[in-house]
Amino acid sequence: MAKMFIHGEYVDSISNEWDEIRNPATGEVVDRVPRGNRQDARAAIEAALTAFPAWADLPFSHRGELLFRAANLIKSQEKELATLLTQEQGKPLRESIREIRRFVHTIEHYAGLAKNVRGGYIPNLDKGKYGKIIKKPIGVCGAIVPWNFPVALMGNKIGPGLLAGNTFVVKPAGTTPLTAIRCIELFHQAGLPRGVLNIVTGPGGEVGQEIIDHPKVRKIGFTGSTETGKRVMERAARELKKVTLELGGSDPMIVCDDADIDRAVSAASVGRFYNCGQACLAVKRLYLFDTIADEFIEKLIEKVKKLRVGNGLEEGTMLGPLHTAYQREEIEAQLDEAVSRGARVLVGGRRPEGQEYEKGHFFLPTLVTDVPEDARLLREEVFGPVLPIVRVKDFEEAIEKANDSIYGLGSSIWTCSLKRAEEAAERLEAGYTWVNSAQIIYDELPFGGVKYSGMGKEHGYEALDYYMETKAVVIAPGI
Ligand code: NAD
Repeated sequence: MAKMFIHGEYVDSISNEWDEIRNPATGEVVDRVPRGNRQDARAAIEAALTAFPAWADLPFSHRGELLFRAANLIKSQEKELATLLTQEQGKPLRESIREIRRFVHTIEHYAGLAKNVRGGYIPNLDKGKYGKIIKKPIGVCGAIVPWNFPVALMGNKIGPGLLAGNTFVVKPAGTTPLTAIRCIELFHQAGLPRGVLNIVTGPGGEVGQEIIDHPKVRKIGFTGSTETGKRVMERAARELKKVTLELGGSDPMIVCDDADIDRAVSAASVGRFYNCGQACLAVKRLYLFDTIADEFIEKLIEKVKKLRVGNGLEEGTMLGPLHTAYQREEIEAQLDEAVSRGARVLVGGRRPEGQEYEKGHFFLPTLVTDVPEDARLLREEVFGPVLPIVRVKDFEEAIEKANDSIYGLGSSIWTCSLKRAEEAAERLEAGYTWVNSAQIIYDELPFGGVKYSGMGKEHGYEALDYYMETKAVVIAPGI
């Protein structure tokens, strides 16, 4: 039975209530976790508050060293952690391994920055005075994480945040706490002081809310849906907290008439169907130049037909189940609405048949065309394996349609024209644009959305700044 981790110890919830964690592929119970409440969250916040001064006082290099040690330990247990992740989340084992490696990379990336912290000095501000810019950790931070990448998205917050000298209370999604708990235990085995990193399981409305309401938590790193993000921001405003919001997306991918079709087809397939389409950065709308559309669609259908759907723990599985019954129903409702208004399903469009699929939330990878412009499939975030395909006559129409969304997370364009690539990078309303490249995140580059996709940055040197206070100092040595 799993437990929460507070002040360096495994603990049960104060209420002694539990929640079951079920495997989305089989419905089997993987484990039970304590159902924490506001009191448990307060205990974790107290622990983080107590640990803060000593942790903040350590040299950067010391904190970096501890992060390296934790990353090494996690690396050594990659297989076990990935298996647990597949059991609770549903993704294929090889994707779970990638997620654990991504987490390790993020932690190592920030550990490495410990030797490269920048500051500022301004000479001759005024006669006999100079200025200094100093950076300080913020204090206790809350990390609120969703279920689609429960480990990697925790890393995006605790990597820069811990290096900067903050302490944390992590709130995982209710359905995916297990691998995150185990990773946090490994941080402690690596020597992290008690109370620096705590994790509290339980409902968002209780545990998450307490983290947001508590006046001593000074920063919230939130990843989740746009709707919850708005509520988080409203509540955090009452205590004037800093917030970073990484929210929903509906990323467009544009394929021009001069694109490398085969590479673009692969990128569209991986981009849409990775993690069964449950990625903020998935390719969610595909815009094809009319002249290459037929060839592209034909090749994409062939590729998609080969994606093997199944239990993520089975060898050869390329697409796991959706994470919950609700997620699958939502996808079906979005698809039905489009089809009832004239959209055509090219492949998939239904649940797979067979005994092995009966207990899981499986859905076939789906391509759909002739989707009305105001259909839910094009207007809302589609968080599952369904890709609407739209034909466009030229570059201008592609950019216009790509930008016609409330979201602005990622975007991509495939073209051999440098002019088109540069212009798209300027004009696409998104926090990220990939040119002739699959939508993959890099720790070296800042990531974060515009419009309803959020605010603030994770990754890059920028993320470190989002976990620090900047202070100006004026010194007149002669007085
Ligand atoms: P969600 O908003 O339902 O939940 C996210 C987290 O918030 C969970 O831990 C949940 O328990 C917690 N929560 C829920 N209500 C809360 C409240 N009132 N106060 C505090 N915390 C609360 O999102 P989800 O369904 O878990 O995740 C899917 C969404 O996340 C999608 O929209 C996806 O695009 C988005 N996402 C965004 C990014 C990004 O980097 N931009 C990355 C991954 C996922």
